[in-house]
Amino acid sequence: MNQVNSPAIDWYARAATAGFDVRPFIDGSARDEEPRDVHARTNPADGTPAPSCPCAGADDIGSAVRAARRAFDAGPWGRMGPQGRRQSLLQFASLIERDAELIALDDCLDIGKPISAALGEAGVAAGFIRYYAESIDKTFGATAPTGPNSLELQLQRPRGVVGIITPWNFPAINVALKIGPALAAGNSVVVKPSELSPRSTFRLARLAIEAGIPPGVFNVVPGAGATGELLARNAAVDMLAFTGSTASGKAVLMAIGSSTIKPVILECGGKSPEIVFGDMSAADLKDLVAQILGGALWNQGQVCVARSRLIVHESLYDALLAELLEQASAIRVGHPLDPLTRFGPLASPLQRQRVMRYIDSGVEAGATLALDGRSPADGGQGCFVAPTVLSGVAPDSRVAREEIFGPVIAVFRFRTEAEAVELANDSEYGLAATVWTRDLGRGHRVASALHSGNVRVLSAPVSAEGAGFAHSSEPAGQSGFGIEGGMRGLESYTRRQAVEFSWSD
Ligand code: ADP
Repeated sequence: MNQVNSPAIDWYARAATAGFDVRPFIDGSARDEEPRDVHARTNPADGTPAPSCPCAGADDIGSAVRAARRAFDAGPWGRMGPQGRRQSLLQFASLIERDAELIALDDCLDIGKPISAALGEAGVAAGFIRYYAESIDKTFGATAPTGPNSLELQLQRPRGVVGIITPWNFPAINVALKIGPALAAGNSVVVKPSELSPRSTFRLARLAIEAGIPPGVFNVVPGAGATGELLARNAAVDMLAFTGSTASGKAVLMAIGSSTIKPVILECGGKSPEIVFGDMSAADLKDLVAQILGGALWNQGQVCVARSRLIVHESLYDALLAELLEQASAIRVGHPLDPLTRFGPLASPLQRQRVMRYIDSGVEAGATLALDGRSPADGGQGCFVAPTVLSGVAPDSRVAREEIFGPVIAVFRFRTEAEAVELANDSEYGLAATVWTRDLGRGHRVASALHSGNVRVLSAPVSAEGAGFAHSSEPAGQSGFGIEGGMRGLESYTRRQAVEFSWSD
């Protein structure tokens, strides 16, 4: 992910005057505050109290879903031609770029994301919206083969009202990845962002109005899990798209199943492997390890696709571990508002507590704490945990099996290709994997054997230009289901309709 340097900006001064408007945004305007439950929040950078997030109840959810319903059934969005929707979404993408600094500051303040990373992410969010805006007039249905007196159209229709529940780790990107295809396909949406990181989603909804997207098309309700459950349960919501933990994903499925049925996309947890074969011994170990650390520690390891299980061939193990420890211990944590910071705090005190417990449990299960990040020197009062490396990890221990969602790398050793595949697949999750080998035949063979939605095979620590926004994948196992990203991701937000005509001459 791009880091953007912005040394000329005094982010501390901007933070001092930043607002926090997360009132329910329904039918194009913010609803005035009524007494609501609130979710208490903490500034992860210094441990001071942060503004609480109000939690929308059944009334707010009902109003938001009705507004979305009206906008879809009777309003201009569902009836607008493709050019109108395309223009509005392109304008929306431009406004996101115009306000990238404000969006980045929202995410930085909410979850302690380093401002340099947050700036890059606002650009990625705009990129998703633009990609799907451009797809609108390039997507066709089909005609089925029929006899002479009949015609069958295969149409892709919008689904209607889409409920969207997002997590806190990439607030702007996660919402853009879902509203981009949902709106391009002609749906209206009700979004519930994470209670930890609501600000940027509300800002995006206000920008959508400025871009000319009609009121009621993009509604946002604030709140925690109970609010999300109300949205999932609502029978007037035609589809639900969720990203979050596997436990919450299961709760969403139960909430839906207890009241109604609807299509669901679930992108849940992961415990992704990074396999390094012995033929990488000739590679530049420094570059290789820098990339391995990037895959494991990006966003302080709070990434569903974090490569948190490092599986290394025995011929390379000692040298690679030594380099890993040297580079990981040189990473300095810093204040997220400092534009030079590349590694900030975790998102909340609770997240820090969870990660600390996992590290303790790894040690109790016999792992070696090769690098201990529990008390970073410059961590202050915030939610900081520095990079941590556990070696000699028992494959059946919790740190080997459960998603930690923090900067903790578990290192394993293997001898044969079969052992590497077995270790990598010894997980209930199936989100992503990386395979390092110079033998691309082996890379292909191993990738086919891995139970992962997304596999990277790399032969050198340089990255070529990838598929970018065109990339789509579907998770496996307890990591969820449903396709996101690319043109296949657009289809997820449409319903196939067959229209048959027949006549006599
Ligand atoms: P993360 O910690 O990665 O954000 P969570 O699963 O805790 O993962 O949260 C992801 C999103 O799901 C958040 O918006 C959260 O409020 C929401 N959520 C949590 N529990 C539920 C639930 N039972 N039903 C619906 N949404 C939920």
